[in-house]
Amino acid sequence: MFRPLLTLTGGLIATLAVTAAQAVPLSKEDLSVAEVLRDRALESSDAYSIVESLTVEVGPRRAGTEGDRRAVAWAQEKMKALGFDRVYTEQIDVQRWHRGHAHAEVVAPYPQPLVVTSLGYGAATPGGGLTAEIVEFADVEALQKAPTRKVKGKIAFINKRMERARTGEGYGPAVQGRSQGMRAAAEKGAAALLLRSVGTDHDRFAHTGMMSIDGVENPIPALALSAPDANLLEAMLERGKPVRVKLDTHNERLPDGPSFNVIGEITGREKPQEVMIIGAHLDSWDEGTGALDDGAGVAIVMETARLIAELPQRPRRTLRVVLYGAEEIGLVGAKQYVDAHRDELDDIIAVSESDFGAGKIWRFDTRLPESKFDIADQMMQLLAPLGIERGNNESHGGPDSSVFVAQGVPAFGLYQDGSDYFDYHHTPNDTLDKVDPEKLKQNVAAWVVMSFLAAEMEGDLGRVPTEH
Ligand code: ZN
Ligand code: ZN
Repeated sequence: MFRPLLTLTGGLIATLAVTAAQAVPLSKEDLSVAEVLRDRALESSDAYSIVESLTVEVGPRRAGTEGDRRAVAWAQEKMKALGFDRVYTEQIDVQRWHRGHAHAEVVAPYPQPLVVTSLGYGAATPGGGLTAEIVEFADVEALQKAPTRKVKGKIAFINKRMERARTGEGYGPAVQGRSQGMRAAAEKGAAALLLRSVGTDHDRFAHTGMMSIDGVENPIPALALSAPDANLLEAMLERGKPVRVKLDTHNERLPDGPSFNVIGEITGREKPQEVMIIGAHLDSWDEGTGALDDGAGVAIVMETARLIAELPQRPRRTLRVVLYGAEEIGLVGAKQYVDAHRDELDDIIAVSESDFGAGKIWRFDTRLPESKFDIADQMMQLLAPLGIERGNNESHGGPDSSVFVAQGVPAFGLYQDGSDYFDYHHTPNDTLDKVDPEKLKQNVAAWVVMSFLAAEMEGDLGRVPTEH
């Protein structure tokens, strides 16, 4: 369902109503503490310092790599330095992969180089590379429907463009080609997969990302083309002559190994066993420094907890910051967290995650029982002045949070403006200069309101019936 948008005027009316009737979950005192926290966040540049530290001192941190190991050490040290009451790790098991070189060139009819990158966990070409004819598909569904004889021995080229949107809603349809393309091409005996990058930019960078690999018997080389190179290939194919491409890539599957969820807590003063979880993912892809994905999220939730830890007293419940490991390769840290803590899920009052870059938050979504909408309405009184409107009740709380939501845990979603997020996503161009310190302050201001009030409120949020 879609809730009517609450305007600032609506917020004021709600405030008056609160004064008249006391049967509201958040007290006037709670709201005034949250307001102070919000205004402190708007004055503080500490979140920017955190993402700066992560990108400069750690940099790329793909799951199971040396960078990942250093990120885990960095996160623990940082949380301790920021005044968390308790900092610990929980080990997870991850599939590992080594990225080697990736080259591509058109050999006929118009020889020239192409800019590519290997998709996550793709196979190597035979030594010396492979050369084959290109066969183009509008999307992965077209490849899946194609007769095997059309694909066998060729390089399947999925040429689907992603639409730009503030909500990022173009990603879902476009990413199918990346997640399912290699499987579909391999099943039909293709020599390799070339994918138009899942992105919205026109830069000559290719976007990497994970593929679905479980159960694929004979993985094949799979590479993303930068958008201008996909245009080039498309234009060559339009000329009607066979286009032959040479690919040369070296990658290697490594034995499974450990990574970690890094967890820091501000311990609740009255009900420490009840927990509000706010999260981000610590791992990143390996070609940029993961400033937007998800260094900004890491900084936002860590700074949120730091501000709350500075209050004269702890909130009623525990605020738990979970920095998930191995999100990029399939929500691995979140899935193993939920498995390991299945008996404690009822104590998690709600989850939320920041994992959509560093744009301004413009919408507040929830996933709450209808009887609890008044809590969100009260939160909106403090969020509306930040330029945030009330959204819908269909939030999954972020990628890692969705694993909890599937178990009925309520969620909050502070939706960022993602208009340019997919210009940089999973490319060498995901670097610190894309993070605007002022927008980051607005993010923390919204997060600290939501997080503090959820940890402090009377009562609870119940459970949300799962749909499937
Ligand atoms: Zn992410
Ligand atoms: Zn990502």
